[in-house]
Amino acid sequence: MTEATRVLVLNAGSSSVKYQLIEMVDGERLAAGLVEKIGEHGGRLVHTPRSGLKRETAQPFPDHSAALKAVAEELAADGLGLDSPELAAIGHRVVHGGKRFTAPTEITDEVLTEIRRLVPVAPLHNPANIIGIEVARALRPDLPQVAVFDTAFHTTIPEYAARYAIDRAVADQHRVRRYGFHGTSHQYVARATAQLLGRDPAELNVIVLHLGNGASASAVAGGVCVDTSMGLTPLEGLVMGTRSGDIDAGVVFHLHRVGGLSIDEIDDLLNRRSGLLGLCGDNDMREIMRRAEAGDEQAELAFKAYVHRLRKYIGGYYAVLGRVDAIAFTAGVGENAAPVRAAAAEGLAELGIAVDPELNSIRSGQARVISPEYARVAVAVVPTDEELEIAQQAYALVHKGW
Ligand code: ADP
Repeated sequence: MTEATRVLVLNAGSSSVKYQLIEMVDGERLAAGLVEKIGEHGGRLVHTPRSGLKRETAQPFPDHSAALKAVAEELAADGLGLDSPELAAIGHRVVHGGKRFTAPTEITDEVLTEIRRLVPVAPLHNPANIIGIEVARALRPDLPQVAVFDTAFHTTIPEYAARYAIDRAVADQHRVRRYGFHGTSHQYVARATAQLLGRDPAELNVIVLHLGNGASASAVAGGVCVDTSMGLTPLEGLVMGTRSGDIDAGVVFHLHRVGGLSIDEIDDLLNRRSGLLGLCGDNDMREIMRRAEAGDEQAELAFKAYVHRLRKYIGGYYAVLGRVDAIAFTAGVGENAAPVRAAAAEGLAELGIAVDPELNSIRSGQARVISPEYARVAVAVVPTDEELEIAQQAYALVHKGW
């Protein structure tokens, strides 16, 4: 009998589906791809096989079902169809798992109902994840489907850090608390940092800085998350590409009462027209650094505001952890923007934090230490791999059942 050792990872967004097929024996990507603009004009599927050329198809995808069927066909064309006996599971990224889902979970009707019950706290994300699950279950009803939650890694945050200081009854009624997001990335990076340093994850205190378009920080004590910067929604915390991050909630009342903006307009403002974009008109850190270098004041201010917030979280999580062994930079900005890393660590030698300019300037896709040898805190660049983490968690779960 053929052994089932492959996992298909699906990350279904509101108008896109990203996927990867991973061989778990050696972690090799057998195929990867992306369907964009589902239900919109300009639908596109880009499929990258392990070997050979990228295939790009431009065609309308009326819904997620059509998109996933097209993905299944692309995989089948490479001899990797969904009917393959080598497929062990499908791992789904699910953004919100609330308080209940603290670990990867095999999807049953009951689990799906519970994920649906969480839609009010993740209206932009969970509905798309649910459609992805439903379509995949219809395509392969016999195959284990595993939900891996963005919030799960953060469910260990102590109550005093997870609760907002508001009326308990109101908070409980509406399930208002800090959930945190990017959990699979924080978990993967915290572990990979320990590996890089040759240390036991259970003994390492790490501040993980996931700086992508969305950005979040977490404090991880001995492999356990004890605080994170995103909250009820992914709006809180760091300055991001288009999100404001931390803001006085009074701003919302002010914009509504005095500014006359509707709640939807304020939602759009804070989520899609704020952050770096709001400050300087660009949300790509490459462009901001280029403009700042050329003397553009708005870009310089945006860069400084971004770094200032980052430093506040580094300081805050230093105090939360008491002892910090490592700071790990990851995701698009964290892995690539050396000036952000240098500015984040500047003047923190008293805290044992320093970045070596030469090590920091090396460009590489590998995990690496960028602090000087003498520094008490190891500063590292650790590329994240959420898909591999989802695949590993899904595979570990279905194997346990054997
Ligand atoms: P997402 O959150 O969408 O997954 P990524 O982790 O891919 O995003 O990060 C995307 C962001 O990374 C871009 O918007 C850009 O600001 C930043 N970025 C990517 N490459 C570089 C680079 N070479 N230098 C600086 N910033 C970069």
